[in-house]
Amino acid sequence: MPSTDLRPQAVALTPLLGLGVAELEAWAQSQGQPAFRGRQLHDWLYNRGARSLDAISVLPKAWRQRLQELPVLPAGSGTPGPEAEVRWPPAHGSPELPREQRITPGETEPGQALLGRSRVLHRSDARDGTCKLLLGTVDGLSIETVGIPSGERLTVCVSSQVGCPMACRFCATGKGGLQRSLAVHEIVDQVLSVREAMGRRPSHVVFMGMGEPLLNSEVVLAAIDCLCRDLGMAQRQITLSTVGVPRTLPTLAERALDRLGRAQFTLAVSLHAPDQRLREELIPTAHTYPIEDLLEDCRRYVTITGRRVSFEYILLGGLNDQPRHAAALAALLRGFQSHVNLIPYNPIEEEEFQRPSPAAVEAFRRLLGARHVAVSVRTSRGLDADAACGQLRRRIMTEIDRHKFS
Ligand code: SAH
Repeated sequence: MPSTDLRPQAVALTPLLGLGVAELEAWAQSQGQPAFRGRQLHDWLYNRGARSLDAISVLPKAWRQRLQELPVLPAGSGTPGPEAEVRWPPAHGSPELPREQRITPGETEPGQALLGRSRVLHRSDARDGTCKLLLGTVDGLSIETVGIPSGERLTVCVSSQVGCPMACRFCATGKGGLQRSLAVHEIVDQVLSVREAMGRRPSHVVFMGMGEPLLNSEVVLAAIDCLCRDLGMAQRQITLSTVGVPRTLPTLAERALDRLGRAQFTLAVSLHAPDQRLREELIPTAHTYPIEDLLEDCRRYVTITGRRVSFEYILLGGLNDQPRHAAALAALLRGFQSHVNLIPYNPIEEEEFQRPSPAAVEAFRRLLGARHVAVSVRTSRGLDADAACGQLRRRIMTEIDRHKFS
């Protein structure tokens, strides 16, 4: 029965982005409106990319004004998913960004927080068409998202957390620790923001921006659900990249089947080394997750989902890009239905790692191919747009700080 109470709820509201059409209909009714208002909201949120309630002129003005006055629950205040149980890795970085490093939320559009949209704080365009956005959250944090065009494709590289606790040595995001995990609307908003900035529909989404998706997996699955259901994307065009968190991969497979009905997105595992010793050197948190256990969990993932796993392997000049590393990697993956994606290192300011030589990249690729490992090389995109994970945010935040204290 639709509610007959015409007064809007006086309690704090959750952002609307991330809700499906039935949920928006029910929400509209809970606000004393007819169900079709929910369908209008769905159309304006997902098809037309509305950023403010003012833009949704089909809604009655008096209702829009009432809604604007209602408080909105802060992101991250919802029910924690099962991954909240995973206390790993042990506290790296600070959970709270010091106040002086927060940006001032500034002017927002009316109802922007209720809709669940962010603010574009900065845009950086590379010569090759790659577009990187720095987005501001309602609580004054910032996240990166990147649009990468390639022919017919437009891939959005989304963040799943603000910062990251994993502290991989070659990664700019890891240098600042974790501030918090993102909410569903904050992930979907990134895809809409890139669509708006680039004037094209994204065809692919990769969870390869800031953060470790497996430390926020319930939210990531809900975001995948929304991207498919409400934005019409196909699961097969979505990739989830993880550096590996103990005991989470089989759970991810089962939860994906439960939640999405099938697990057709691609799981990419950041391996980066053919043995435990070298892997720990590059990824200090890997000391609690032996490489054999990680591979065993990948096998279980394949068994549960029926999908092959791809492995990412960053090539660091002189460190893990030698023929012996390629041979060891081929041996490690023997008999495993997988695909290896080689990623030449994108230099970051804080570390002295070297980019691999083109000859070393080619030799590595050939050696894997000769040993029947399916392999591809990811070409670097947008190097002039601070392409490496977390770089734009670090540069802009430094500039904001400099500005603040000068
Ligand atoms: N935490 C997840 C997803 C975010 S990082 C993960 O680790 O997989 C996405 C990919 O970018 C990972 O494979 C990561 O190792 C890689 N990456 C991070 N910093 C990089 C850099 N400076 N150069 C090249 N690749 C980098």
